[in-house]
Amino acid sequence: MGVDREPRTSLPLFDEGRAYEHPLYGKLLSAPGLSVGVAPLDKLLTWGLTNSLWVFPMATSCCGIELMAAAASRVDLDRMGTFLRGTPRQGDVMVVAGTITVKMAPRVKRLWEQMPEPKWAIAMGSCAISGDFYRDLYPVVPGIDTFLPVDVYIPGCPPNPEGMMAGLLELARKVRSEQGRAVHPPVRRADALVVTRPSIARLGDPERDPSLSEQQMEAASRPAESPAARPFEDVALPPVPETAPGSVVEAPPTFDPELAELYRAHGVTDFPKDAPPLVPLARHVSLARALVERGYAQLVYVVASHWLAGKGRAGNVAGETEHHEVAYGLRTVGPRPKGAPSKLAWWSVRAEADGAVPSLAGALAGADWQEREQFDLVGVRFAGHPDLRRLMMPDNWAGHPLRKDYPADAHTAPWR
Ligand code: SF4
Repeated sequence: MGVDREPRTSLPLFDEGRAYEHPLYGKLLSAPGLSVGVAPLDKLLTWGLTNSLWVFPMATSCCGIELMAAAASRVDLDRMGTFLRGTPRQGDVMVVAGTITVKMAPRVKRLWEQMPEPKWAIAMGSCAISGDFYRDLYPVVPGIDTFLPVDVYIPGCPPNPEGMMAGLLELARKVRSEQGRAVHPPVRRADALVVTRPSIARLGDPERDPSLSEQQMEAASRPAESPAARPFEDVALPPVPETAPGSVVEAPPTFDPELAELYRAHGVTDFPKDAPPLVPLARHVSLARALVERGYAQLVYVVASHWLAGKGRAGNVAGETEHHEVAYGLRTVGPRPKGAPSKLAWWSVRAEADGAVPSLAGALAGADWQEREQFDLVGVRFAGHPDLRRLMMPDNWAGHPLRKDYPADAHTAPWR
């Protein structure tokens, strides 16, 4: 969905026409003779309400630090009767300070629903307002008002604590005016709208496609499916390439000679200076086991990359097929001579797009989680993995977002 850069000059507020009424208000009105006291009591209740707006903080990134600073001694929100409560049940205002991802959004919404009425929402900082410079990334919600009714926007990257205080004062003014049945006139600067308008129409936008809300509701109410673990045991591994008699794949001079010998014994086919040596798929598990025996027992990383046809580790190569490359890194652990650094062993394996990489989960427990992550994000299949399911993305997410052919601006219900 493309970004419409045309500015809009009028938008309704999400809660335009809604007026909050304190539960005591109706009772007082119905009591005979007490109506003369309603006006001052209404003012008193509103005064109490606007001077005790307790914040439920939803701080996810840098803006959260400014929110914390606003609560600290120099600015001291407490002097306005506002302080941060770490529970939705006693919060009046949810302050979303930072970037919200599609994975967080359902949890944020659930916490919002756990806050009792009356309640208000503040979007603090440009990430919460619009997704900011992350807005077009696949995991980022392009503004929290795609799923929350925001009352006050505090602009900035980040807004400072004084900005936070000004936002709360603005909210108090809004609450007071709602008590008096006033409706805010929409105040939106056309030039600012050019910058902040999201590519997907938000709640309350007149031009929002109603089917988008239906999709959101449908996707949000659907229970997440956890697909059964899918081991790929039946993968035929390609044969280990023959090394011509007398030919040796040379290691860079800086490479540990003992490791170089071990890699050669496992059929290494490429020994570049600034990339991991390439090892045949069929020797990969036995290489890992041999390294563990030599003390390289900590699995530091598993990183997969997806290569489209015509591209590979040697650059643009005609005839190169679409494939994955997965790099592993192991580090030595345990006692070592004083001053001697821990040593790292790294290598890569290459699998065709429809193939699989033998899992290291049987040799190194940490591979379970890390290979699962690479399956989720890049789509690499790991043969023999005990539990190959999504780990980072929602279970009903379509596709693998770190693949080179993944459309970055795909519309994925419910949040984008
Ligand atoms: S708006 Fe700026 S400061 Fe706030 S969370 Fe985003 S990047 Fe960080």
